[in-house]
Amino acid sequence: QLLHDLLDLKGNIRVFCRVRPFTLEESIGGGIGGIGAVVALDTSNLLLKLGDNKTKRYTFDNVFQGSSQDGIFSKVEPVIKSVLDGYNASIFAYGQTGTGKTFTMEGTLDSPGIVPRTIETLFKQALDSNHTFLITFSMLEIYLGNLKDLLVPQATRATDPLPPCLSIQTDPKGGIGIENLVSIQVSDFNQALKLYRLGCQLRSTASTNSNTTSSRSHCMIRISMTCFDAPERRRETNKIWLVDLGGSERVVKTKAWGRRLDEGKAINLSLSALGDVIHALQRKKSHIPYRNSKLTQVLKDSLGEDSKTLMLVHVSPKEEDLCETICSLNFAARVK
Ligand code: ADP
Ligand code: MG
Repeated sequence: QLLHDLLDLKGNIRVFCRVRPFTLEESIGGGIGGIGAVVALDTSNLLLKLGDNKTKRYTFDNVFQGSSQDGIFSKVEPVIKSVLDGYNASIFAYGQTGTGKTFTMEGTLDSPGIVPRTIETLFKQALDSNHTFLITFSMLEIYLGNLKDLLVPQATRATDPLPPCLSIQTDPKGGIGIENLVSIQVSDFNQALKLYRLGCQLRSTASTNSNTTSSRSHCMIRISMTCFDAPERRRETNKIWLVDLGGSERVVKTKAWGRRLDEGKAINLSLSALGDVIHALQRKKSHIPYRNSKLTQVLKDSLGEDSKTLMLVHVSPKEEDLCETICSLNFAARVK
């Protein structure tokens, strides 16, 4: 309890920054030694080298450069564990395309990311607890402002390559629900992981079919835990949203047109709506503008005063990406 009070003192919104390492090709192309335009000074300070000996410094709750998936997860874990203590939570991967959002959230088989680790941790915690939990898993994507279920049964998929659109329902008390969102009860870690892999697969096939890329959509995973036998709990069902956000690069700069431009605009609008909501929460404003995007509407009950929120901002180490890096860091600084 004391530990929780301490965590609460720090506030419910935390911002971490992860700097992607140079790829092999980039190192060969000049970024030798992994020293680029962005340097972590210590575990909470980041230095940008702007040229002409000018620098700019940013401070976050955690800064990661050259960190392992393990190292990052150890700092993320308290947020995940708070779900069993009766909180709703949300974790976001934000940043320009190619900065490692999917690497952080999904990871690889050798180096699993936050989603598989969260699934494992929640099941372990549920088993270790004195209470009985029912765990359900859902997965959806927001593309051009439309919600698509990523767990629709195989049968529906055979006739229609794209999953049907889902709609958001508001109840009189202001709560929200996603109509017909598939929510599957999972009894063990492996079953949940299988569903997750299926969803990831559908995400990439759907994006190939519609001639887009997954970086133009938000991918959202919801894990709900219902506790049966603990009347003293603050809430009976708690959930965590794990979100791999669409690329934050500005459309003007990418010289996009047609569908690409629409996709970029939709992503940019929803990302600024997300920034506005978190900013309003941080400033304890009386009006929180959830209604400005589907993304913030869906997240409404996991993105508020009583919820734990973690924003993982991703940046590139490259000098040529400095403009986008500054935009991302400014976004992060605003929600801090
Ligand atoms: P995004 O989802 O933001 O577009 P990705 O996760 O697809 O970016 O990352 C782009 C590339 O960089 C991928 O090949 C990925 O494996 C690699 N990458 C990103 N972050 C890391 C990291 N921390 N360590 C090793 N490779 C990384
Ligand atoms: Mg990605």
